[in-house]
Amino acid sequence: MSVLRALVVSFNHTLIKKIDENYEQSIIIPVNYNSNQSFSPSLFDDNQLLPGQSRIDYKIHQGFTLNEEILIKNALEIIANRLFKPEILQNMYNICGTSGELLGARVWSRSQLGNDKNYHGMYDLLRFQLMCLKIKSENDQCPTIHIYPMYEKNETQAEGTVGCISCISHGSTFSIEGNFQVKLNRYNLDALNKNVENLVYWAGTIVHEMLHNLGHKHKNNDYSNQWQINIFENCFIYNGNYSI
Ligand SMILES: [Zn+2]
Repeated sequence: MSVLRALVVSFNHTLIKKIDENYEQSIIIPVNYNSNQSFSPSLFDDNQLLPGQSRIDYKIHQGFTLNEEILIKNALEIIANRLFKPEILQNMYNICGTSGELLGARVWSRSQLGNDKNYHGMYDLLRFQLMCLKIKSENDQCPTIHIYPMYEKNETQAEGTVGCISCISHGSTFSIEGNFQVKLNRYNLDALNKNVENLVYWAGTIVHEMLHNLGHKHKNNDYSNQWQINIFENCFIYNGNYSI
């Protein structure tokens, strides 16, 4: 049986864990890892988000071991903490400027961002997408991150469909269609390795696939810093302090 969980990101630096009878979890994660754990009784009474909090839902599908599931859950907590940090995106733009963007077929036209004068071209698509996802997560409407197992005895770590989720500009408003779909290769998922570096590495790998889902690409097997998607992954792993 797969387990549905929800990650809640708190921007007021609280950590809340809630486990209900259905084995569903809502976790409020501190943006600041140094903050002390505290509990907010209001979240136990209902599932409403407090001001400044956001939620990312995810589903880890059947086929992972318990250890693998724990690794994935911890990696997703890092994603919930970091994905919308402006300094990570800024870190990427500082490195690649207005280049490095490679998009899947029809991703750009589908975004309708060419008509939005607040954005300046394809290189700006990721900034728009992260803004859309952040606002949706603050309203508890963020698309679900689906994590599926795969098993191949090769170096593939993960796979993500290009363009299975769209953020669409409608001028002053926007919409999101689709969900995140990420496969992780259990052959390479070293779930017994409890190092923080390992967790962050896998969080970065999932984020890389999430960017594929959003339509971003690199040339085949080219993981160099020529491409926005690869640079963003590194900036994410280094928490906004990546330099080349
Ligand atoms: Zn890739």
